[in-house]
Amino acid sequence: MFKEFAKGLSITFKHLLPGHSTTVQYPKVKLTPSDRFRGLHRLVPAQDREKCVACYLCPTVCPAKCITVESAENEKGEKYPEVYTIDMLRCIFCGYCVEACPVEAIEMTGAYELANYAREDFEFTKQRLLK
Ligand code: SF4
Ligand code: SF4
Repeated sequence: MFKEFAKGLSITFKHLLPGHSTTVQYPKVKLTPSDRFRGLHRLVPAQDREKCVACYLCPTVCPAKCITVESAENEKGEKYPEVYTIDMLRCIFCGYCVEACPVEAIEMTGAYELANYAREDFEFTKQRLLK
């Protein structure tokens, strides 16, 4: 029993040594999330417009029903999202929207600092998502 106790303490004290800590002094030090991290969404831009073709697959598959898309047609007869909004207060960051998109028009970035004060600041419009 003493052996296990000593082993546990050694692990605890090891983490006190410089270079062995698993925590960082956030926000002074920020970790880089892995490539697979699902943070804030981004609409992928194409040449003169967004890549999204307003197919409605992502709002259909979204389990939180937090994506609003309203399609329109441009002068070339191409469909585009006149309105594309994600309510981040409802999003559960599941990534289904990214998986469902047939044209890879939406992706999830490593941005995770999404805290804000006003409710409306969590409405991510097309313009904000294209940034
Ligand atoms: S990550 Fe999931 S919950 Fe969030 S917008 Fe995409 S499908 Fe909806
Ligand atoms: S982001 Fe992709 S899945 Fe969603 S409406 Fe646009 S094209 Fe369709």
